[in-house]
Amino acid sequence: MTEHVVEQVDILIIGAGPVGMTLHLALAAGGQKSLLLDRRPRPAGSTLGVCEAQQTDPRALALSHGARQLLEQVNAWPTRAATAIETIHVSQKGGFGRTVIDRADYDLPALGYVVRYRDLAAALATQLSADALLDGVEILDITPADDLVTVSLRHAGQERRFETNVLIHAEGTPDDDPDVKVSDYDQHAVVCEVTPNPGHGKRAWERFTPDGPLALLPLGNDYSVVFTLPPAKADAVMAMDDAAFTVALQAQFGNRMTFSRPGKRSRFPLALRLRDTLVQGREVWIGNTAQTLHPVSGQGFNLGIRDAWQLSEILLKNGVDRSSLASYATSRRLDRQGSAFFTDRIVRTFSNDFAPVKLVRGLGLLALDIFPPARHFVAKRMIWGARAWP
Ligand SMILES: Cc1cc2nc3c(=O)[nH]c(=O)nc-3n(C[C@H](O)[C@H](O)[C@H](O)COP(=O)(O)OP(=O)(O)OC[C@H]3O[C@@H](n4cnc5c(N)ncnc54)[C@H](O)[C@@H]3O)c2cc1C
Repeated sequence: MTEHVVEQVDILIIGAGPVGMTLHLALAAGGQKSLLLDRRPRPAGSTLGVCEAQQTDPRALALSHGARQLLEQVNAWPTRAATAIETIHVSQKGGFGRTVIDRADYDLPALGYVVRYRDLAAALATQLSADALLDGVEILDITPADDLVTVSLRHAGQERRFETNVLIHAEGTPDDDPDVKVSDYDQHAVVCEVTPNPGHGKRAWERFTPDGPLALLPLGNDYSVVFTLPPAKADAVMAMDDAAFTVALQAQFGNRMTFSRPGKRSRFPLALRLRDTLVQGREVWIGNTAQTLHPVSGQGFNLGIRDAWQLSEILLKNGVDRSSLASYATSRRLDRQGSAFFTDRIVRTFSNDFAPVKLVRGLGLLALDIFPPARHFVAKRMIWGARAWP
Protein backbone atom coordinates (compact mmCIF):
# COMPACT_ATOMS: atom_id res chain seq x y z
CA MET A 1 0.00 0.00 0.00
CA THR A 2 1.30 3.49 -0.91
CA GLU A 3 1.92 5.78 2.06
CA HIS A 4 0.79 9.34 1.35
CA VAL A 5 2.44 12.42 2.78
CA VAL A 6 -0.17 14.07 4.98
CA GLU A 7 -0.57 17.76 4.18
CA GLN A 8 -1.63 20.13 6.97
CA VAL A 9 -4.12 22.93 6.27
CA ASP A 10 -5.78 25.13 8.89
CA ILE A 11 -9.05 25.42 6.97
CA LEU A 12 -10.33 23.35 4.02
CA ILE A 13 -13.36 24.56 2.04
CA ILE A 14 -15.11 22.04 -0.24
CA GLY A 15 -16.89 23.94 -3.04
CA ALA A 16 -15.57 26.98 -4.93
CA GLY A 17 -19.00 28.41 -5.77
CA PRO A 18 -19.80 32.03 -4.89
CA VAL A 19 -20.23 31.20 -1.19
CA GLY A 20 -17.02 29.14 -0.81
CA MET A 21 -14.97 31.73 -2.71
CA THR A 22 -16.39 34.62 -0.64
CA LEU A 23 -15.44 32.81 2.55
CA HIS A 24 -11.92 32.10 1.29
CA LEU A 25 -11.41 35.78 0.33
CA ALA A 26 -12.86 37.09 3.61
CA LEU A 27 -10.50 34.84 5.57
CA ALA A 28 -7.54 35.87 3.39
CA ALA A 29 -8.39 39.56 3.97
CA GLY A 30 -8.02 38.86 7.71
CA GLY A 31 -4.67 37.08 7.22
CA GLN A 32 -6.04 33.52 7.52
CA LYS A 33 -5.06 30.94 4.87
CA SER A 34 -7.53 28.36 3.61
CA LEU A 35 -7.63 25.95 0.67
CA LEU A 36 -10.60 25.63 -1.71
CA LEU A 37 -11.41 22.27 -3.33
CA ASP A 38 -13.78 21.94 -6.28
CA ARG A 39 -14.72 18.94 -8.35
CA ARG A 40 -15.09 20.92 -11.56
CA PRO A 41 -11.90 21.49 -13.55
CA ARG A 42 -11.05 25.08 -14.54
CA PRO A 43 -9.99 25.58 -18.17
CA ALA A 44 -6.19 25.47 -18.53
CA GLY A 45 -4.70 28.96 -18.70
CA SER A 46 -8.03 30.65 -17.90
CA THR A 47 -7.44 34.07 -16.40
CA LEU A 48 -10.91 34.06 -14.86
CA GLY A 49 -10.54 30.70 -13.15
CA VAL A 50 -14.23 30.02 -13.79
CA CYS A 51 -15.21 26.50 -14.82
CA GLU A 52 -17.42 25.73 -17.81
CA ALA A 53 -20.49 25.02 -15.69
CA GLN A 54 -20.15 28.45 -14.05
CA GLN A 55 -19.55 30.17 -17.38
CA THR A 56 -22.73 28.70 -18.84
CA ASP A 57 -24.92 28.96 -15.73
CA PRO A 58 -28.13 30.67 -16.94
CA ARG A 59 -29.13 32.21 -13.59
CA ALA A 60 -29.21 35.90 -12.79
CA LEU A 61 -29.16 36.67 -9.09
CA ALA A 62 -30.80 39.61 -7.34
CA LEU A 63 -28.24 40.71 -4.76
CA SER A 64 -29.15 42.89 -1.82
CA HIS A 65 -27.45 46.17 -1.01
CA GLY A 66 -25.95 44.36 2.00
CA ALA A 67 -24.42 41.66 -0.26
CA ARG A 68 -22.85 44.38 -2.42
CA GLN A 69 -21.21 45.94 0.63
CA LEU A 70 -19.69 42.57 1.64
CA LEU A 71 -18.44 41.80 -1.89
CA GLU A 72 -16.86 45.25 -2.10
CA GLN A 73 -14.82 44.46 1.00
CA VAL A 74 -13.10 41.59 -0.88
CA ASN A 75 -12.82 43.61 -4.13
CA ALA A 76 -15.24 41.25 -5.87
CA TRP A 77 -18.14 43.55 -6.67
CA PRO A 78 -18.79 43.17 -10.44
CA THR A 79 -19.58 46.87 -11.00
CA ARG A 80 -19.98 46.78 -14.78
CA ALA A 81 -22.02 43.58 -14.79
CA ALA A 82 -24.53 44.75 -12.16
CA THR A 83 -27.89 46.41 -12.94
CA ALA A 84 -29.49 48.44 -10.15
CA ILE A 85 -33.06 47.80 -8.97
CA GLU A 86 -34.63 51.12 -8.02
CA THR A 87 -38.23 50.00 -7.53
CA ILE A 88 -39.98 46.65 -7.01
CA HIS A 89 -43.60 46.26 -8.08
CA VAL A 90 -45.45 43.42 -6.30
CA SER A 91 -48.88 42.24 -7.50
CA GLN A 92 -51.09 39.16 -7.95
CA LYS A 93 -52.56 37.94 -11.22
CA GLY A 94 -56.37 38.13 -11.36
CA GLY A 95 -56.73 39.81 -7.96
CA PHE A 96 -56.61 43.27 -6.42
CA GLY A 97 -53.83 44.73 -4.29
CA ARG A 98 -50.37 45.76 -5.29
CA THR A 99 -47.47 47.59 -3.69
CA VAL A 100 -44.36 49.39 -4.87
CA ILE A 101 -41.12 49.42 -2.88
CA ASP A 102 -38.95 52.41 -3.78
CA ARG A 103 -35.25 52.97 -3.02
CA ALA A 104 -36.00 56.65 -2.33
CA ASP A 105 -37.76 55.60 0.90
CA TYR A 106 -34.54 53.99 2.20
CA ASP A 107 -31.97 56.59 1.28
CA LEU A 108 -30.04 53.98 -0.74
CA PRO A 109 -28.59 54.17 -4.26
CA ALA A 110 -30.56 50.98 -5.09
CA LEU A 111 -32.76 48.38 -3.41
CA GLY A 112 -30.55 45.69 -4.88
CA TYR A 113 -28.68 44.65 -8.00
CA VAL A 114 -29.02 41.95 -10.63
CA VAL A 115 -25.89 40.06 -11.68
CA ARG A 116 -25.44 36.93 -13.79
CA TYR A 117 -24.16 33.99 -11.75
CA ARG A 118 -21.19 33.69 -14.13
CA ASP A 119 -20.18 37.35 -13.68
CA LEU A 120 -20.36 37.02 -9.90
CA ALA A 121 -18.27 33.81 -10.00
CA ALA A 122 -15.73 35.49 -12.33
CA ALA A 123 -15.43 38.59 -10.10
CA LEU A 124 -14.67 36.35 -7.11
CA ALA A 125 -12.35 34.01 -9.03
CA THR A 126 -10.16 36.87 -10.29
CA GLN A 127 -9.37 37.72 -6.66
CA LEU A 128 -8.09 34.20 -5.85
CA SER A 129 -4.35 33.71 -5.58
CA ALA A 130 -2.69 30.99 -7.68
CA ASP A 131 -2.51 28.54 -4.75
CA ALA A 132 -6.05 29.17 -3.43
CA LEU A 133 -7.83 26.34 -5.27
CA LEU A 134 -7.39 22.69 -6.17
CA ASP A 135 -9.80 22.09 -9.05
CA GLY A 136 -10.98 18.84 -10.63
CA VAL A 137 -10.74 17.00 -7.29
CA GLU A 138 -12.64 13.89 -6.30
CA ILE A 139 -13.22 13.60 -2.56
CA LEU A 140 -12.56 9.97 -1.61
CA ASP A 141 -13.05 10.00 2.13
CA ILE A 142 -13.73 12.31 5.10
CA THR A 143 -12.78 11.03 8.54
CA PRO A 144 -13.64 13.29 11.48
CA ALA A 145 -11.79 13.02 14.80
CA ASP A 146 -11.87 15.11 17.99
CA ASP A 147 -8.82 17.21 17.17
CA LEU A 148 -8.85 17.27 13.33
CA VAL A 149 -10.58 16.08 10.16
CA THR A 150 -8.78 13.98 7.54
CA VAL A 151 -9.78 14.40 3.90
CA SER A 152 -8.52 12.05 1.18
CA LEU A 153 -8.91 13.09 -2.43
CA ARG A 154 -7.77 12.44 -5.96
CA HIS A 155 -6.26 15.35 -7.87
CA ALA A 156 -4.58 15.20 -11.28
CA GLY A 157 -4.40 11.42 -11.04
CA GLN A 158 -2.70 11.48 -7.60
CA GLU A 159 -4.20 10.54 -4.26
CA ARG A 160 -3.54 13.15 -1.56
CA ARG A 161 -4.41 13.33 2.12
CA PHE A 162 -5.03 16.50 4.13
CA GLU A 163 -5.47 17.09 7.84
CA THR A 164 -7.42 20.19 8.78
CA ASN A 165 -8.62 21.94 11.94
CA VAL A 166 -11.92 22.90 10.33
CA LEU A 167 -13.67 21.44 7.27
CA ILE A 168 -16.20 23.75 5.62
CA HIS A 169 -18.82 22.33 3.28
CA ALA A 170 -19.90 24.79 0.55
CA GLU A 171 -20.79 22.24 -2.14
CA GLY A 172 -24.16 23.76 -3.03
CA THR A 173 -27.54 22.03 -3.06
CA PRO A 174 -27.19 18.61 -1.41
CA ASP A 175 -28.31 15.34 -2.99
CA ASP A 176 -30.17 12.84 -0.84
CA ASP A 177 -28.82 13.19 2.67
CA PRO A 178 -30.53 11.94 5.85
CA ASP A 179 -29.51 15.15 7.67
CA VAL A 180 -31.35 17.35 5.16
CA LYS A 181 -35.15 17.80 5.32
CA VAL A 182 -36.65 18.19 1.86
CA SER A 183 -40.01 19.80 1.16
CA ASP A 184 -40.83 19.70 -2.56
CA TYR A 185 -42.70 22.71 -3.98
CA ASP A 186 -43.89 20.77 -7.02
CA GLN A 187 -42.72 23.76 -9.04
CA HIS A 188 -39.93 24.29 -11.56
CA ALA A 189 -38.30 27.63 -12.36
CA VAL A 190 -37.93 28.30 -16.09
CA VAL A 191 -35.32 31.04 -16.55
CA CYS A 192 -34.37 33.09 -19.61
CA GLU A 193 -33.76 36.66 -20.72
CA VAL A 194 -36.22 38.80 -22.74
CA THR A 195 -36.20 42.35 -24.09
CA PRO A 196 -39.03 44.56 -22.75
CA ASN A 197 -40.74 47.41 -24.54
CA PRO A 198 -40.76 50.08 -23.14
CA GLY A 199 -37.42 49.75 -21.32
CA HIS A 200 -37.41 48.47 -17.73
CA GLY A 201 -36.48 51.74 -16.03
CA LYS A 202 -34.63 49.73 -13.32
CA ARG A 203 -37.91 48.33 -12.04
CA ALA A 204 -38.21 44.66 -10.90
CA TRP A 205 -41.59 42.91 -10.94
CA GLU A 206 -42.76 40.15 -8.63
CA ARG A 207 -46.08 38.81 -9.85
CA PHE A 208 -47.89 36.06 -7.98
CA THR A 209 -49.89 33.68 -10.16
CA PRO A 210 -51.79 30.52 -9.18
CA ASP A 211 -49.02 28.47 -10.85
CA GLY A 212 -46.26 30.15 -8.85
CA PRO A 213 -44.40 33.47 -8.67
CA LEU A 214 -43.13 35.18 -11.80
CA ALA A 215 -40.19 37.55 -11.40
CA LEU A 216 -38.73 39.99 -13.89
CA LEU A 217 -35.31 41.32 -12.91
CA PRO A 218 -33.67 44.19 -14.83
CA LEU A 219 -30.40 43.01 -16.37
CA GLY A 220 -28.59 45.31 -18.81
CA ASN A 221 -31.29 46.37 -21.28
CA ASP A 222 -33.24 43.15 -20.77
CA TYR A 223 -35.20 41.35 -18.10
CA SER A 224 -34.07 38.11 -16.54
CA VAL A 225 -37.27 36.05 -16.18
CA VAL A 226 -37.88 33.51 -13.41
CA PHE A 227 -41.12 31.81 -14.46
CA THR A 228 -42.27 29.36 -11.78
CA LEU A 229 -44.66 26.62 -12.89
CA PRO A 230 -45.89 23.15 -11.97
CA PRO A 231 -43.58 20.55 -13.61
CA ALA A 232 -46.00 19.57 -16.44
CA LYS A 233 -46.54 23.22 -17.40
CA ALA A 234 -42.79 23.82 -17.23
CA ASP A 235 -42.37 20.89 -19.71
CA ALA A 236 -44.80 22.61 -22.05
CA VAL A 237 -43.14 26.03 -21.69
CA MET A 238 -39.69 24.53 -22.30
CA ALA A 239 -40.97 22.89 -25.51
CA MET A 240 -42.54 26.08 -26.98
CA ASP A 241 -41.00 28.00 -29.82
CA ASP A 242 -39.99 31.60 -29.07
CA ALA A 243 -43.22 33.14 -30.36
CA ALA A 244 -45.43 30.84 -28.26
CA PHE A 245 -43.23 31.41 -25.21
CA THR A 246 -43.54 35.19 -25.56
CA VAL A 247 -47.35 34.85 -25.71
CA ALA A 248 -47.35 32.59 -22.61
CA LEU A 249 -45.23 35.08 -20.68
CA GLN A 250 -47.38 37.98 -21.80
CA ALA A 251 -50.54 36.14 -20.71
CA GLN A 252 -49.21 35.88 -17.15
CA PHE A 253 -48.13 39.45 -17.03
CA GLY A 254 -50.85 41.51 -18.71
CA ASN A 255 -50.39 44.40 -21.11
CA ARG A 256 -48.15 46.73 -19.13
CA MET A 257 -45.32 46.04 -21.55
CA THR A 258 -44.47 43.71 -24.41
CA PHE A 259 -41.64 41.21 -24.63
CA SER A 260 -39.46 40.14 -27.54
CA ARG A 261 -36.26 38.23 -28.34
CA PRO A 262 -36.47 35.54 -25.65
CA GLY A 263 -33.11 33.88 -25.01
CA LYS A 264 -32.32 30.24 -24.31
CA ARG A 265 -34.52 28.72 -21.62
CA SER A 266 -33.27 26.56 -18.71
CA ARG A 267 -35.12 24.99 -15.80
CA PHE A 268 -34.49 24.26 -12.12
CA PRO A 269 -36.70 21.96 -9.97
CA LEU A 270 -37.54 23.72 -6.69
CA ALA A 271 -37.59 22.37 -3.13
CA LEU A 272 -36.79 23.68 0.33
CA ARG A 273 -33.78 21.77 1.67
CA LEU A 274 -32.80 22.46 5.28
CA ARG A 275 -29.91 20.77 7.06
CA ASP A 276 -30.78 19.83 10.64
CA THR A 277 -27.47 20.83 12.21
CA LEU A 278 -25.04 23.37 10.81
CA VAL A 279 -22.06 22.04 12.77
CA GLN A 280 -20.84 18.54 13.63
CA GLY A 281 -17.54 18.40 15.48
CA ARG A 282 -15.05 20.26 13.27
CA GLU A 283 -17.27 20.31 10.18
CA VAL A 284 -19.61 23.16 9.23
CA TRP A 285 -22.12 23.60 6.37
CA ILE A 286 -22.72 27.00 4.71
CA GLY A 287 -24.60 28.45 1.72
CA ASN A 288 -26.82 26.13 -0.30
CA THR A 289 -25.47 23.01 1.44
CA ALA A 290 -26.98 24.35 4.67
CA GLN A 291 -30.20 25.68 3.15
CA THR A 292 -31.54 25.73 -0.39
CA LEU A 293 -34.53 28.05 -0.73
CA HIS A 294 -37.12 28.82 -3.41
CA PRO A 295 -35.81 31.69 -5.58
CA VAL A 296 -38.87 33.89 -4.92
CA SER A 297 -37.65 37.08 -3.24
CA GLY A 298 -34.03 36.20 -4.12
CA GLN A 299 -32.78 35.16 -0.69
CA GLY A 300 -30.44 32.20 -1.47
CA PHE A 301 -27.06 33.73 -2.19
CA ASN A 302 -27.84 36.74 -0.03
CA LEU A 303 -28.21 34.36 2.89
CA GLY A 304 -25.18 32.29 1.83
CA ILE A 305 -22.89 35.32 1.73
CA ARG A 306 -24.01 36.24 5.26
CA ASP A 307 -23.12 32.66 6.32
CA ALA A 308 -19.66 33.08 4.79
CA TRP A 309 -19.11 36.50 6.33
CA GLN A 310 -20.24 35.56 9.81
CA LEU A 311 -18.12 32.40 9.79
CA SER A 312 -15.01 34.29 8.67
CA GLU A 313 -15.52 36.94 11.37
CA ILE A 314 -15.86 34.32 14.11
CA LEU A 315 -12.89 32.23 12.93
CA LEU A 316 -10.70 35.34 12.64
CA LYS A 317 -11.72 36.66 16.05
CA ASN A 318 -12.01 33.48 18.15
CA GLY A 319 -9.57 31.13 16.39
CA VAL A 320 -9.89 28.08 14.15
CA ASP A 321 -11.42 25.57 16.54
CA ARG A 322 -14.57 23.74 17.58
CA SER A 323 -15.86 26.39 19.96
CA SER A 324 -15.84 28.95 17.14
CA LEU A 325 -18.01 26.63 15.07
CA ALA A 326 -20.48 26.28 17.95
CA SER A 327 -20.71 30.10 18.22
CA TYR A 328 -21.25 30.28 14.48
CA ALA A 329 -24.18 27.82 14.59
CA THR A 330 -25.87 29.84 17.33
CA SER A 331 -25.30 33.15 15.58
CA ARG A 332 -26.88 32.00 12.30
CA ARG A 333 -30.10 30.53 13.73
CA LEU A 334 -32.36 33.59 13.45
CA ASP A 335 -31.29 34.75 9.98
CA ARG A 336 -31.47 31.24 8.56
CA GLN A 337 -34.82 30.26 10.03
CA GLY A 338 -36.30 33.70 9.34
CA SER A 339 -35.24 33.64 5.67
CA ALA A 340 -36.44 30.05 5.14
CA PHE A 341 -39.78 30.75 6.85
CA PHE A 342 -40.32 34.07 5.02
CA THR A 343 -39.60 32.49 1.61
CA ASP A 344 -41.61 29.32 2.26
CA ARG A 345 -44.67 31.27 3.47
CA ILE A 346 -44.63 33.55 0.44
CA VAL A 347 -44.53 30.59 -1.97
CA ARG A 348 -47.24 28.59 -0.21
CA THR A 349 -49.57 31.54 0.44
CA PHE A 350 -49.38 32.95 -3.05
CA SER A 351 -49.27 29.83 -5.27
CA ASN A 352 -52.98 28.99 -5.43
CA ASP A 353 -56.23 30.26 -6.84
CA PHE A 354 -58.51 29.70 -3.82
CA ALA A 355 -60.85 32.73 -3.68
CA PRO A 356 -60.73 33.45 0.11
CA VAL A 357 -56.93 33.17 0.08
CA LYS A 358 -56.82 35.50 -2.93
CA LEU A 359 -58.88 38.02 -0.98
CA VAL A 360 -56.54 37.84 2.03
CA ARG A 361 -53.53 38.17 -0.27
CA GLY A 362 -55.08 41.24 -1.88
CA LEU A 363 -55.73 42.74 1.54
CA GLY A 364 -52.15 41.96 2.53
CA LEU A 365 -50.74 43.71 -0.53
CA LEU A 366 -53.10 46.63 0.04
CA ALA A 367 -52.00 46.83 3.68
CA LEU A 368 -48.36 46.89 2.58
CA ASP A 369 -49.20 49.70 0.21
CA ILE A 370 -51.11 51.93 2.62
CA PHE A 371 -49.24 51.05 5.82
CA PRO A 372 -45.60 52.14 5.30
CA PRO A 373 -44.17 50.44 8.45
CA ALA A 374 -45.30 47.03 7.14
CA ARG A 375 -43.83 47.76 3.71
CA HIS A 376 -40.60 48.98 5.30
CA PHE A 377 -40.35 45.78 7.33
CA VAL A 378 -40.57 43.62 4.20
CA ALA A 379 -38.25 45.91 2.23
CA LYS A 380 -35.59 46.06 4.93
CA ARG A 381 -35.66 42.30 5.29
CA MET A 382 -34.91 42.05 1.56
CA ILE A 383 -32.18 44.69 1.71
CA TRP A 384 -30.37 43.70 4.88
CA GLY A 385 -31.46 40.19 5.95
CA ALA A 386 -31.49 39.46 9.69
CA ARG A 387 -30.27 42.94 10.59
CA ALA A 388 -33.77 44.10 9.68
CA TRP A 389 -35.42 42.14 12.48
CA PRO A 390 -36.47 44.41 15.33
C1 LIG B 1 -33.57 29.86 -10.68
C2 LIG B 1 -32.80 30.37 -9.50
C3 LIG B 1 -32.78 31.72 -9.24
C4 LIG B 1 -32.09 32.22 -8.13
N1 LIG B 1 -32.13 33.56 -7.87
C5 LIG B 1 -31.48 34.05 -6.80
C6 LIG B 1 -31.51 35.44 -6.52
O1 LIG B 1 -32.15 36.23 -7.23
N2 LIG B 1 -30.82 35.89 -5.42
C7 LIG B 1 -30.14 35.05 -4.59
O2 LIG B 1 -29.55 35.51 -3.62
N3 LIG B 1 -30.10 33.72 -4.84
C8 LIG B 1 -30.75 33.20 -5.91
N4 LIG B 1 -30.69 31.86 -6.17
C9 LIG B 1 -29.92 30.99 -5.26
C10 LIG B 1 -28.40 31.01 -5.59
O3 LIG B 1 -28.18 30.62 -6.92
C11 LIG B 1 -27.67 30.07 -4.62
O4 LIG B 1 -28.03 30.37 -3.30
C12 LIG B 1 -26.14 30.20 -4.76
O5 LIG B 1 -25.72 29.89 -6.07
C13 LIG B 1 -25.47 29.24 -3.77
O6 LIG B 1 -24.08 29.33 -3.88
P1 LIG B 1 -23.15 28.19 -3.27
O7 LIG B 1 -21.75 28.67 -3.48
O8 LIG B 1 -23.63 27.80 -1.93
O9 LIG B 1 -23.44 26.89 -4.18
P2 LIG B 1 -23.16 26.63 -5.72
O10 LIG B 1 -23.34 27.87 -6.50
O11 LIG B 1 -24.00 25.45 -6.10
O12 LIG B 1 -21.62 26.18 -5.79
C14 LIG B 1 -21.21 24.94 -5.24
C15 LIG B 1 -19.79 24.59 -5.71
O13 LIG B 1 -19.39 23.37 -5.06
C16 LIG B 1 -18.80 22.48 -6.01
N5 LIG B 1 -19.03 21.10 -5.55
C17 LIG B 1 -20.20 20.45 -5.45
N6 LIG B 1 -20.01 19.19 -4.97
C18 LIG B 1 -18.69 19.05 -4.78
C19 LIG B 1 -17.86 17.98 -4.31
N7 LIG B 1 -18.38 16.81 -3.95
N8 LIG B 1 -16.53 18.17 -4.24
C20 LIG B 1 -15.99 19.35 -4.61
N9 LIG B 1 -16.71 20.41 -5.06
C21 LIG B 1 -18.05 20.26 -5.15
C22 LIG B 1 -19.50 22.81 -7.33
O14 LIG B 1 -18.70 22.43 -8.42
C23 LIG B 1 -19.69 24.34 -7.21
O15 LIG B 1 -18.59 25.04 -7.75
C24 LIG B 1 -31.38 31.33 -7.27
C25 LIG B 1 -31.39 29.96 -7.54
C26 LIG B 1 -32.10 29.48 -8.64
C27 LIG B 1 -32.12 27.99 -8.89
